[in-house]
Amino acid sequence: MRELDRDRGAERRQQLEVPHAGRIDTRRAGCNGPSGPSWPAVRTSLSRTLPAVAKVVQPGPALEWDTPLYHQARTQLEHALELSEVPELVSTRLRHPERALILMLPVELDDGSYRSFPAYRVQHSSLLGPTKGGIRYDEEVDLGECAALAMWMTWKCALLRLPYGGAKGGVRCNPRELSTPELARITRRLTAELAPFIGPELDIPAPDMATNEQTMAWMMDTYSMQMGHAVPEIVTGKPVSIGGSLFRQEATGAGVVMVVERACERLGWDLAQQTCVVQGFGNVGGVAASELHAKGAHVVAVSDVSGGVHSPLGLDVPALHAYVAENRSLEEYTADVERITNEELLELECDILVLAAREDQVTSANAGKLRCRLVAEGANGPISVAGDAILAERGIPVLPDILTNAGGVTVSYFEWVQDLGRLFWDRDEIRRRLADKMSDAFDRVWNVSQERGITLRDAALVAAIHEVSGALVARGIYP
Ligand code: NAD
Repeated sequence: MRELDRDRGAERRQQLEVPHAGRIDTRRAGCNGPSGPSWPAVRTSLSRTLPAVAKVVQPGPALEWDTPLYHQARTQLEHALELSEVPELVSTRLRHPERALILMLPVELDDGSYRSFPAYRVQHSSLLGPTKGGIRYDEEVDLGECAALAMWMTWKCALLRLPYGGAKGGVRCNPRELSTPELARITRRLTAELAPFIGPELDIPAPDMATNEQTMAWMMDTYSMQMGHAVPEIVTGKPVSIGGSLFRQEATGAGVVMVVERACERLGWDLAQQTCVVQGFGNVGGVAASELHAKGAHVVAVSDVSGGVHSPLGLDVPALHAYVAENRSLEEYTADVERITNEELLELECDILVLAAREDQVTSANAGKLRCRLVAEGANGPISVAGDAILAERGIPVLPDILTNAGGVTVSYFEWVQDLGRLFWDRDEIRRRLADKMSDAFDRVWNVSQERGITLRDAALVAAIHEVSGALVARGIYP
């Protein structure tokens, strides 16, 4: 294992690093939930499973964000660094986020009681421009998750050649148990607390799990009230009426299908002949299912957190959307479908499996049981390092998250550019520009993978690291 932080400041920083305070969150240690294996056991099993595939990070003194998901992002990075031949200043700088913020948000609930919600914002790299990344509301949000997701955002922006670095944030809460006024108060308090650390030239939030256009509208309004004038460019993914971009809401799911389509072309497959399974039926998965359906592919199963629906003849995707719009979930949907669990859904026989729910869905426990020919990562980090190794061994190609779900941040970039220029483009132009960007990134990744005989994930990381490396070498480390 290479040494961490072998630069001039290493000794000083080691003195500042706080030893880990004890329990590491084991909820991420596979898809086994709180009763799953402990993190040390997972780490030992990773070390056994992966020596030939990836160098597993053996952390030095633990930092606060050192959780299993961050470990996954770091392990991917270490492996890609081995393939990237970049100077040491690059690896030293990119291994850790630049800045991390921990907040407690005091909020009045509808019944008059008060509750404090933990919240986080992590900024990984400001090298190429402002940091950019979503805000999620979820019970499992923690600092390590935000740090991992922020690092992945850096690679995603670099790979798409967007002038941004990565960030991520969130509030640890159960959004399904909160009313709209409570969510508004959480969002406004979060924005006020974040105000000194975000800004159109500094850090630009966007929607993520369980946040949406309305959340971004509350953020934009709160920030604008503090500045004394409208600042639409502070967030992306907001409503069109306040400076949002056409096609932003559909961009991530549409981008997923653009990448799947390009991959099918390279593999010599006709997308319209393929059977598809989509895990997650929210912003990303719902749109991906619609786009696949519109292109003639057979979407045979979809799921949300309540479970899945399956029909070997193909699902009526518009009817599913209409049902969810009315009932908020697929839970009671039974029309001409078989109800299945999310575990069963992942193991269905199909051509293309789109993972668009959340991280850590395919692990060493189930990667050997997948019966698809191609996996597309619509979610961030849905495949663990061990799961990835098993799929690689089985010859199942994975279209990696930092490429496949980059449509959202790309149209976010278009939204920011439109807001700054106060000049707005039409839907066709945005869709065309997105297709160009996704196609260009896909081709670069595919070519690196073919030329070097490495997985698409490694190729995407290597291509992204080279973009960042060029900038860092040119700028150098300050002072
Ligand atoms: P969302 O909240 O709109 O949808 C998430 C969907 O997944 C919902 O249908 C939910 O019920 C389902 N789900 C949650 N847990 C599940 C589980 N354990 N099993 C099966 N289904 C489950 O969120 P989203 O915006 O669609 O984001 C999904 C993923 O895509 C996240 O990893 C997010 O970080 C990533 N992503 C989102 C965007 C974007 O623009 N929204 C961009 C890039 C990446």
